[in-house]
Amino acid sequence: MGLMRPQVLIIGCGFGGLEAARALRAAEVDITLVDKTNHHLFQPLLYQVATAGLSAPSIAAPIRHLFRGQRNVTTLLGEVTGIDANARTATLKDGAVLRWDHLIVAAGATHSYFGRDEWAAHAPGLKTLEDAFEIRRRVLLAFEAAEREDDPARRAALMQFVVVGAGPTGVELAGTFAEIARHTLPGEFRRIDPRQARVLLVEGSPRVLQAMPESLSESARAQLAALGVDVRLGARVTGIDAEGLDITTSAGAERLASRCVVWAAGVAASPLGRVLAEATGCTLDRAGRVVVEPDLSLKGFANLQVIGDLAAAQSHAPGQDPKPVPGVSPGAKQMGRCAAANIKRRLRGEVTQAFRYRDYGNLATIGRNSAVVDLGTPAGPLRFSGYFAWLFWLFAHVYFLIGYRNRFVVLLDWAWAYWTYDRGARVVANAGLAGLNEASPVHDVKA
Ligand SMILES: Cc1cc2nc3c(=O)[nH]c(=O)nc-3n(C[C@H](O)[C@H](O)[C@H](O)COP(=O)(O)OP(=O)(O)OC[C@H]3O[C@@H](n4cnc5c(N)ncnc54)[C@H](O)[C@@H]3O)c2cc1C
Repeated sequence: MGLMRPQVLIIGCGFGGLEAARALRAAEVDITLVDKTNHHLFQPLLYQVATAGLSAPSIAAPIRHLFRGQRNVTTLLGEVTGIDANARTATLKDGAVLRWDHLIVAAGATHSYFGRDEWAAHAPGLKTLEDAFEIRRRVLLAFEAAEREDDPARRAALMQFVVVGAGPTGVELAGTFAEIARHTLPGEFRRIDPRQARVLLVEGSPRVLQAMPESLSESARAQLAALGVDVRLGARVTGIDAEGLDITTSAGAERLASRCVVWAAGVAASPLGRVLAEATGCTLDRAGRVVVEPDLSLKGFANLQVIGDLAAAQSHAPGQDPKPVPGVSPGAKQMGRCAAANIKRRLRGEVTQAFRYRDYGNLATIGRNSAVVDLGTPAGPLRFSGYFAWLFWLFAHVYFLIGYRNRFVVLLDWAWAYWTYDRGARVVANAGLAGLNEASPVHDVKA
């Protein structure tokens, strides 16, 4: 037996971890890729699962399958709960210990309810497949319960959908809920008219899609209104319970009765950030993200890099001031490649490189035929919205989907949905209406 090769441990196989493992394909290292789920998830299309447009396998691929051809990768299913930076080990929830010479932590982010964790039960966020299934269940069952509800006020509450947070995910969800109510469901119910459903998008700041230029925010707001979404800007949520939510605007306090509230407002780093802070003394920012050195390592721990949404990283372009890297998939992928390159450099005894983020632009979709695009080109920014922006968004997302089968299936599903307005992924397991209808009214079958 020869000498043991350097052991690289990658925690998390999202956009960052996947890219890092791939970039080490030809390196003389053994890679262990550990994730608490068995799949890589294409989060940008998760809202399509939450709104019954796509089924889960279209946007998720088994990690083991993705790396079947890369001999230096071993895939393990497990949740990392502890890291010892001096002993160079990571501990899994079940007590197993993994040894590493080089560690890349790419555990991503979760929701933040701004200290109001009790809201989580009433307003699920969207981050994992389970979240998407839960939102889909709530939306579809709210219509089912409304069909069985005789009391007009309760029926209206069941048909009022509220999305909190008008970032890209909130905008996509609200636009698609409106589309379902207006185009997919009409004709299928006998006692309610799904077109009467109201969709509200509640946002604390004065505009939607804050990361976009103001003109595109305004275009997105107008496109949402055209789809029938009631956009409430400058509205702060002060309470959420099983019956609805309380908001405050410049006009005063308002109660919105709703049985289906979705949270798309806050992001917090993975709890592994705190684990790393205890293990290494590194600093966390306000969102719990790990403050990294220019080369993505931690101070005093050159063999430990943190990437993706978990990292508070800066982009270091020559001759420019460092700029924060946004929490988007291209940022995570580019950091994954940089972390892999730095491991290879260290193995060759070379100095590591500082991370530089290349921003190719920003896209957001709102619904059928509507989207906004902001691209950086050598000739200056290229901004457009509406149908062509939507087509651009669609092809860009299908292009970046992992796995050819997925791309083909997604395009086919979309083409079908486009022409028929159908949303095929509407089968819900565990379809009890418990809690949605107050009592079980006796229905007059001729009603
Ligand atoms: C709904 C939604 C829509 C989005 N839309 C877009 C978009 O349109 N465009 C865009 O650029 N970006 C988008 N983003 C952001 C983008 O998905 C993230 O920036 C990107 O996923 C970050 O990559 P990451 O590798 O850091 O983390 P992730 O991709 O989140 O991956 C983290 C991985 O770590 C695993 N993990 C976490 N904790 C542990 C643990 N303790 N042990 C083991 N494994 C663990 C998780 O299971 C997961 O597989 C969206 C995000 C969401 C949630």
